[in-house]
Amino acid sequence: MDADVLIAGAGCAGLSLAVHLLDAAPDLEILLLDPRESHVRDRTWCFWSGARHPFEDAVRHSWNRWRVVTDRGEVERGSESVAYQCIPADAFYERALDRIERAPRARLARGVSVEGFRQSEGSVTAVTSAGELRAARAYDGRPPEARPVPPGEIHWLQHFVGLEIETVERAFDPGVATLMDFRIMDGADIRFMYVLPLDERRALVEDTFFGGETRPEAEYVDSIRRYIRDRLGVESWTERHRERGAIPMSTVPPVESALSRVTPIGVRAGLARPATGYAFLAIQRRSRRIAVHASRVGLDSPPASGRPYPRATAFLDRVFLAYLDREPRAAPEMFRSMFAGVEPERMARFMFDGGSRSDRIALMRSLPAAPLIGQTLRSLGPALRDATRRT
Ligand SMILES: Cc1cc2nc3c(=O)[nH]c(=O)nc-3n(C[C@H](O)[C@H](O)[C@H](O)COP(=O)(O)OP(=O)(O)OC[C@H]3O[C@@H](n4cnc5c(N)ncnc54)[C@H](O)[C@@H]3O)c2cc1C
Repeated sequence: MDADVLIAGAGCAGLSLAVHLLDAAPDLEILLLDPRESHVRDRTWCFWSGARHPFEDAVRHSWNRWRVVTDRGEVERGSESVAYQCIPADAFYERALDRIERAPRARLARGVSVEGFRQSEGSVTAVTSAGELRAARAYDGRPPEARPVPPGEIHWLQHFVGLEIETVERAFDPGVATLMDFRIMDGADIRFMYVLPLDERRALVEDTFFGGETRPEAEYVDSIRRYIRDRLGVESWTERHRERGAIPMSTVPPVESALSRVTPIGVRAGLARPATGYAFLAIQRRSRRIAVHASRVGLDSPPASGRPYPRATAFLDRVFLAYLDREPRAAPEMFRSMFAGVEPERMARFMFDGGSRSDRIALMRSLPAAPLIGQTLRSLGPALRDATRRT
């Protein structure tokens, strides 16, 4: 064997799993494989506080107040007990890679691409650009392959470009994050600006779309520059960092691995939340579960794949996506009502993993009843099909 465990992909899920495995099962020999030659800041992970994870000391900023803005007004909410937090990827990578480097039995092989897996009695073989590698179990965190969208399912991309800028004059209130400013929405595309002020002179400003095709980078950048000038009133600034992303927002169930010794992880395992695209905390939760399973049960039996999100959450996400698919112009007021009508702590729990039954009821009550009831009934067909397929 080349290792006990192979991890294909040293991104968020692969590195998180390695760190969780080092905590729960330090004797395992872990080999991570990734074509990347380096890890640089390529994204910024944001999430709601409340869940424990091993990267808490990488949190760079927390906001206890946040707002949603539309043409009709704005809502600002806040909480002493819940914060919206962010971790820049470089801080995350540094902590994870440092932990792996210090572990005597863990190693990252850079410049190595995994092409596929083959299983035999008692082991799995990864076919890679550096030859074949064998282990007792493999975790597959490669980006998922594109596939056709079955009828009745929704598959959107949340696509965006963000600029981190630094201004000469004080320009931002670092206490308040703008989660969605819909005033830039001018057609049927659901589009908003996301502004994370890091201090009084620095902010990450992202032009974000829910759905539609990705666009040339210059289009997002022009729109961000216009927004900074016209809406934020800033005339001159320096661009410090740029990031670009496209995250699935999808009701299509993830593909399960045909091999019992290969476990999908991360976005490949469907952990990007359909209604939001958020995945960071779900990746931490799933990594912990897999690591505990490896330590208590061993590597021969697969960890329960489980649903990426609870059934009720997945259903509500389907209703949201289907409704917005039919009524994209309703998005701004729908989000504003939701943030206005639901207590911040409930909202944070809902955004994290769907929250409790009463959180979901509070959320539904904050929204216009008639159109959502119609959509709920329409969504029941595919949801029932999905439930019967999986039970
Ligand atoms: C720009 C951006 C911002 C985001 N912001 C947030 C956020 O604020 N909050 C949130 O919760 N979620 C966010 N997400 C969504 C999600 O958390 C991230 O996409 C997260 O990185 C997903 O982790 P992952 O490990 O599945 O994929 P990745 O982190 O993308 O890792 C995949 C890894 O696989 C490697 N790889 C590719 N091909 C191969 C191969 N053939 N063999 C081996 N390895 C391979 C890649 O090099 C990469 O390292 C964001 C995503 C992006 C792109």
